[in-house]
Amino acid sequence: MDLKEKKFDYLEMINNIDFDKLYGLGGSFLVCPLKHSKTFSKEMFSEDQKMFADAAYDYAIKRIRPLKDDLQVLNKELTLEIFKELGEMGFLGVDMPEKYGGSNLDKTTAAIVVDYLAFSECASIMVTIGAHTGIGALPIAWYGTDRQKEKYLTKINSGEWLASFALTEPNAGSDAMNGESTAYLNDEKTHYILNGQKIWITNGSWANSCVVFAKVNGKMTAFIVDKDCEGWVIGAEEKKMGIKGSSTVTMYFENCKVPVENLLGAVGEGGHIALNCLYAGRWKLGFSSSAGSMSSINAAYNFAKERKQFSRSILKFDMIKNKFANMIARAWESDTVNYATTGSIDDSIAKLDSNAEDYYVKIQKITEDHAIEASVAKVVGSEALAYCADEGVQIFGGSGFCEEYPAAGVYRDERINRIFEGTNEINRLIISGTVLKKAILEEIPIRDVLLHRKNDMIGDNDFDESISKEAEVIEYCKSLGLIVLDNLINIYGQDFKNKQWLIEPFADIICSISIMHNCFLRYNQLDKGVHKNNTLPVLKLSISHHYRKLINRVKIINSYICDYMQFGKEQDKIDFCNVSESLNLNYLPNEIHLKKIIIDEFYKQEKYYLNI
Ligand SMILES: Cc1cc2nc3c(=O)[nH]c(=O)nc-3n(C[C@H](O)[C@H](O)[C@H](O)COP(=O)(O)OP(=O)(O)OC[C@H]3O[C@@H](n4cnc5c(N)ncnc54)[C@H](O)[C@@H]3O)c2cc1C
Repeated sequence: MDLKEKKFDYLEMINNIDFDKLYGLGGSFLVCPLKHSKTFSKEMFSEDQKMFADAAYDYAIKRIRPLKDDLQVLNKELTLEIFKELGEMGFLGVDMPEKYGGSNLDKTTAAIVVDYLAFSECASIMVTIGAHTGIGALPIAWYGTDRQKEKYLTKINSGEWLASFALTEPNAGSDAMNGESTAYLNDEKTHYILNGQKIWITNGSWANSCVVFAKVNGKMTAFIVDKDCEGWVIGAEEKKMGIKGSSTVTMYFENCKVPVENLLGAVGEGGHIALNCLYAGRWKLGFSSSAGSMSSINAAYNFAKERKQFSRSILKFDMIKNKFANMIARAWESDTVNYATTGSIDDSIAKLDSNAEDYYVKIQKITEDHAIEASVAKVVGSEALAYCADEGVQIFGGSGFCEEYPAAGVYRDERINRIFEGTNEINRLIISGTVLKKAILEEIPIRDVLLHRKNDMIGDNDFDESISKEAEVIEYCKSLGLIVLDNLINIYGQDFKNKQWLIEPFADIICSISIMHNCFLRYNQLDKGVHKNNTLPVLKLSISHHYRKLINRVKIINSYICDYMQFGKEQDKIDFCNVSESLNLNYLPNEIHLKKIIIDEFYKQEKYYLNI
């Protein structure tokens, strides 16, 4: 089929959609053409945001990095000292209400702090901070009463108290709502009596408070438990594969007496609270992961520069260059989708009345609306870091396997990122499930756009000649993604969400579209100059990788669903399975050439060079 066939049939329908207004809505990258889209990136930081970035980076490098070895083993005293300092500098309550010691700033600034603190290269303290400012503090900020915020949030924001969040149980991990912990109101109606066990709780043995989930008459409910609650028993520290300097314990609730005023939200609201707070934890994890990827690249470079084999530096070997080029592209992609996520959330939050009573409820709704973006940031970031850490070990060779060098520690520490804040399997379920939901509920105009795109898969673009082919490729990929979704809905309806053989490759398609869309816009929005020139080959490499990956995933899906579809001729079926129409794009990127350019610049700058 000609990719632009019957172009005008659906123009009117599509013209009625104001794409520019869709920015700020979760999932809008799936339907908005590039020419009606924008993104947020590091290059767009305000002066205040730059100040936070500099301050966090400075603290990470000067204060935390020298203590790295001491913080990579359990060290309560030092961790608490660092927390007080983080609190004093305003790093813990960036996006928290001013009334309770926070700065009430945007999500991007909160993310900047995580991003730049992560250059401390101390994964343990980052996990401690992540649990504290994310899942530990957010439930109270979003659902707490004034009294609860005054009592807990103020101390959490100042770093005086460490916060934690206890959802997981022995029989309820990914299936978190299946917990067996219970709570009932005592006869005097003064206390809820909690019984149960929670496992693998970050900050557990150091925390002064914990948001705990238990069922009241079968309904999942949240409580704030603190040190004054009799019956809150902390178990021994876990012996972990990595992040050994963060506290991870089992908590036991043995007729634990929780005052009624510590009920968080309403009885039965616990599931909602738990899931919503995890969304924000996910994009924060994306940020610490992308910083970790960049640090891995730099550490591997510094080692490789000194390492000689066959009478030359190993930097000279093309296979080593290939690794670095791929690592750079993946770190940049992760960084791009992270800030695209917070930028979109902030755009929506900026439209709210910050004095309104339901301000924080609406922020929570906006966060929930960005479930796709949050999971994409988590999956893309954690898998980019896994890739960089693994290739980092490889570049170090045998030294990478020995604890004397940093690569082994990074390799162990990064592993957890694909497991907590929802495993990457669960996050892929969320990505595909949320796209399905948004399509069915028409939260974004997927159907209208789909009808149009079926007939004009690439549209027009007036982007610079140097990137107009990439723009075509991205529009084609978005159209293809929507057509795949349409086929899946037509065959399975809502039952698609139970078809994991298909859910997984479909989620990968969505991740690739998000990366291509946001990376393209980021590049296109850059001011002309050296930074933009240096970014272009990385963008092109990224588009090339994701185009191939996406086509591969579509082939996997089409080869499975073709038996459920009608074809006039056998050749049509073969073309469908092979995604043969994609050949009409004539997209022939020269990856080796692009990688050579990337490496020339990388070796010149001797570090990951796409940060401003
Ligand atoms: C160091 C550490 C810190 C943690 N901190 C906290 C914390 O502070 N608070 C807290 O509440 N919890 C915490 N957790 C728990 C963490 O969130 C869980 O480990 C995670 O949710 C996975 O649950 P699970 O380990 O029981 O794995 P399981 O749910 O048993 O999963 C095992 C495997 O099956 C897969 N799987 C499960 N269900 C599905 C499905 N429906 N479809 C496809 N695949 C599936 C998983 O992806 C995984 O690969 C922490 C865990 C660790 C290790």
